[in-house]
Amino acid sequence: MNKPAAAVILAGGSGRRMHSDVPKQYMEIGGHPLLYYSVKAFEESSVTDIILVVNEGDEEKVYENIVCRYGFKKVSRVATGGKERFDSSWNGIRSALDIFEQRNRSMDGYVLIHDAARAMISRDVIERTIADAVEYGACCTAVPSKDTVKIADENGFIKDTPVRDRVWIAQTPQAFDMRIITDAYEKMYRAIRNGQEIMVTDDASVAEMFSDVKVKLTMGDYENIKVTTPDDLITAEKILCKADRNK
Ligand code: C5P
Repeated sequence: MNKPAAAVILAGGSGRRMHSDVPKQYMEIGGHPLLYYSVKAFEESSVTDIILVVNEGDEEKVYENIVCRYGFKKVSRVATGGKERFDSSWNGIRSALDIFEQRNRSMDGYVLIHDAARAMISRDVIERTIADAVEYGACCTAVPSKDTVKIADENGFIKDTPVRDRVWIAQTPQAFDMRIITDAYEKMYRAIRNGQEIMVTDDASVAEMFSDVKVKLTMGDYENIKVTTPDDLITAEKILCKADRNK
């Protein structure tokens, strides 16, 4: 890969479902803040840059407590997040674009978008994601569902049961050719300004809805859970403390 690849790590939002005064991304787990683990995985991968996206007012704290404390070299920016996850993503993507344009005078490159809450991200998954972004232009890490999934109607009754072999559970990172994802996001914000109501909870959905590119499913990792509730912290600690995860 001779084009740059930037990782945007999303660490904004309030993490209400954790019921804690400390936002989950800064909660200590195995002796380090949760956010540290994702940054470390990307630092040790082939990405060229890392952009951290944090809540307004947290920028300096994160710079000191994460970037300086651990001596991460690839973190090029600490950007400010937005109201919704997709606003934070877009701020991160624009920071990556700015870095590519300043350095290479070109928007060519790839961007990987990752939830800081998925601290169990491995280097193998990161490299698979980059390879698929290069080959297909857009990809989403995911794992095949082990459970049968039911689609509910508004009254809590089953409306549909998709064939299990075709059901995948989406994870992050999700990676894109920079031109494809910026074009899709611009179209999405145009639609929002025109009054369209948009419900997107990941970046692959933006590409699905606002580009012609088919998003490849890249094999993720069942251990790469999103730390969301207090129970997840216990599971995450067990996984993170397993020796030699990334060797
Ligand atoms: O809320 P949700 O679980 O979808 O959040 C996924 C990731 O997006 C988390 O890592 C969280 O820190 C981040 N996020 C963000 N800005 C928001 C909301 C969530 O960066 N406004």
